[in-house]
Amino acid sequence: MSGQVWVYSESEPVANEVATAAAAVAQGASAEVRMVDIGSVRPATRGSGGRLLLKGPAGHEVSPAVAAEALARAAKDLAPLAVLLGATRDGREVASRLAAKLGIGCMAEVAGLASDGQGMTGERNVFAGKVVAKVRCQFPAVATVKVGAYPKAAAQPGESQEKDVGPVSDQTKTVGREKKPAGAVDLRSAKVIVSAGRGVKKKEDLAILAELATAMRGALGCSRPLSADLGWLPEEHHIGLTGVTVKPDLYLAVGISGQLQHVAGMKDSKVVASINTDKDAPIFQASDYGIVGDLYQVIPALERALAARR
Ligand SMILES: Cc1cc2nc3c(=O)[nH]c(=O)nc-3n(C[C@H](O)[C@H](O)[C@H](O)COP(=O)(O)OP(=O)(O)OC[C@H]3O[C@@H](n4cnc5c(N)ncnc54)[C@H](O)[C@@H]3O)c2cc1C
Repeated sequence: MSGQVWVYSESEPVANEVATAAAAVAQGASAEVRMVDIGSVRPATRGSGGRLLLKGPAGHEVSPAVAAEALARAAKDLAPLAVLLGATRDGREVASRLAAKLGIGCMAEVAGLASDGQGMTGERNVFAGKVVAKVRCQFPAVATVKVGAYPKAAAQPGESQEKDVGPVSDQTKTVGREKKPAGAVDLRSAKVIVSAGRGVKKKEDLAILAELATAMRGALGCSRPLSADLGWLPEEHHIGLTGVTVKPDLYLAVGISGQLQHVAGMKDSKVVASINTDKDAPIFQASDYGIVGDLYQVIPALERALAARR
């Protein structure tokens, strides 16, 4: 079978990760990868093979509804084998709308993508990462690719193609915009993460963990209760099933019990170290190193040790 595997994401770095997944599918299906732009070509360097510009939708920002409609119109004519999107908030919406419009299967948040030429398989974590499910869709199919699961594709020249899909009306109206506060954390690319849990007694005490994170050239993360329930940190700091998935070189869990919903988001870290007063805390099962102790004593001691080495 020959054909095309399309890659679309509203985020340039994510599109380049998805391109790597698409290359694996394309290889198995003897297909070509096409990086899709909608409305206008985006200026950033794109990874992998050829490009496909869908002309018609106007404006620089394309809502998920418009993206899904534009992709669906183009797919009806050009019949790609697969459309791969990043499993971002927008990507999930585009994928589900697109699959419904085309009446085809959709695999959600997959990694380990491969193709036998007739369809594609992927792996997805279920039960908070306790089980890996292998899923399969016949071509044509849509999939969202787990963010952070693939390295970015190297830029390669390729053929460019254009397709006029006509104007697409947008039922979505943007009513306002707020800038993210400066210094918003990027946990996905952090090499070291110091992560705070409910063992931290009050918001002000997060400062000692933030200092330690800075001293280790790392970032501050947290368990869900600290952001979602207590509001001590913005939501992008929260790691786990419903938060960010991270895989730093070092993950230091401080006062975190290690419930499976948290562990699902950090279990692929290279080295996990934990500080907890409870020797039976489940986090120690997921740790390479553990300190049974009070964070209010251990963290200052760690800081002193780090300072002595500088
Ligand atoms: C559908 C669903 C999705 C969820 N998604 C997520 C998610 O994405 N991420 C997430 O984190 N949680 C998630 N949760 C919540 C999760 O189940 C746990 O409730 C949460 O992870 C617990 O946070 P914690 O470990 O900080 O707090 P706790 O479970 O209260 O643990 C606090 C720990 O601190 C230790 N401690 C106390 N004092 C000290 C001290 N002085 N020094 C050192 N240690 C101390 C205690 O021994 C304890 O182990 C989810 C829950 C549900 C139901």
